[in-house]
Amino acid sequence: MIWSFTDSRTFAKCQRRWYYDAMLGYWNQKDPCRWEAYLLSKLQSVSAWRGQVVDLAITTTLVPTLNARQAPSLRRCLDRARQIFDTQRTFAMRHRLREAGMVPSQHKDSFAAFLSLEYQQPVEETELAQAWSEVEQAITNLFGMDALLGQLRAARLCVAQRALTFKHEGVSVKAVPDLIAFYDDRPPLIVDWKVHAFGTKDYWLQLVTYALALTRCTVHKDFARVFQGCDPTTIRLAEVQLLTNRIREHTLDEDDVGEVEDMIADSASRMSLALDGRKHPELRQADFPATSRLENCSDCPFRKPCWEGDE
Ligand code: SF4
Repeated sequence: MIWSFTDSRTFAKCQRRWYYDAMLGYWNQKDPCRWEAYLLSKLQSVSAWRGQVVDLAITTTLVPTLNARQAPSLRRCLDRARQIFDTQRTFAMRHRLREAGMVPSQHKDSFAAFLSLEYQQPVEETELAQAWSEVEQAITNLFGMDALLGQLRAARLCVAQRALTFKHEGVSVKAVPDLIAFYDDRPPLIVDWKVHAFGTKDYWLQLVTYALALTRCTVHKDFARVFQGCDPTTIRLAEVQLLTNRIREHTLDEDDVGEVEDMIADSASRMSLALDGRKHPELRQADFPATSRLENCSDCPFRKPCWEGDE
């Protein structure tokens, strides 16, 4: 079993959704049940999708520019975001997810699938227009964050969307920070982009998990020349709320590290108990309780199999 911050949140909200998403929804075209769960796991709300567009535009324009030691260009980043937005919107609005033989990974940057369309709800033009306006606002706000951009421009190397894994109490922990900036003369800076209209949630736990992952994973080849490990408490953590134009800097001390380790171990042990030593195909959806809070179901891509009892 692999533990991640996202999986732990899904498990806490609904164990059955976690089963579909983390246990069943793996790439396996030969098993129709797993393949269907995999396809469903690709569905997103329009608001989640706009965050993905922002992430991808930053990863494919700003990050290479920083590494090439060139001046970041707001225009280039916005143009790239618009291109991603238009391509993915066309793909999603045709609901190509359900095309015969669709393999999402073959479409890479052009793939998107809207939850509403799968569940016969329309996606209104006004919703898409609002999504674009928020993408534009988020990127424009980022380019106005002079202090943050200054820190990123001073980095020796920036690495985006890198999967980091380490073992904790026998469980594999996986973390994928949005951006890690490495320096010659100071500890790394980990940045997480958030694109929420109400930036009220505190993502301290997620960012501390990233710091633990960076200091405990096997150092990757590309960043080995600038990073050989450090104490997690020295890593700087920035939660960047792009829509509300706010940066929350998180710090951690030894007690925090212990607290987060305990939280990971506790959450992973609940997941292991739910599995009770079984693996697919011994698992059944009925083994995993459905949430008692119906509002948790509104954005769930697995409503069909869950409500139809389809195994
Ligand atoms: S539809 Fe509701 S109960 Fe079923 S898996 Fe999704 S969140 Fe859980």
